[in-house]
Amino acid sequence: MKIDGACHCGFIAYEAEADPEMTGICHCTDCQTLSGSAFRSVVPSRQGSFKLRSGELKIYLKTAESGTKRQQSFCPNCGTPIFSTTVDDGPKIHSIRVGTIRQRKEFVPKLQYWVRSAQHWTSDLGSLPKTEKQR
Ligand SMILES: [Zn+2]
Ligand SMILES: [Zn+2]
Repeated sequence: MKIDGACHCGFIAYEAEADPEMTGICHCTDCQTLSGSAFRSVVPSRQGSFKLRSGELKIYLKTAESGTKRQQSFCPNCGTPIFSTTVDDGPKIHSIRVGTIRQRKEFVPKLQYWVRSAQHWTSDLGSLPKTEKQR
């Protein structure tokens, strides 16, 4: 489906195509650090479909344990992570951060990976007390 999204401050806006069935949760320690949270939900774009509509991304090159480099892109003003992708040329698949997608309600995770480094409590979130707004 066609999607569009933006960072928190509105400097970055983009559009892409992505299949909600491909939505996943990544529990790797890099995602924990780079998102500032316990895990990250992501969906791959259809190859070559990502288009930046406005703004200019700040890029951080991450080198994985395996030596693979990945481009982490985020808003230079507000720091919202937008996507990661490979460093090669040609049509790319962008791993879009689901929280930036306007249609994010449709992107329900179907798979969790790097669970070996998951924070143990994430498997039991449903049992915590809840409030509708700030506590
Ligand atoms: Zn921003
Ligand atoms: Zn990850």
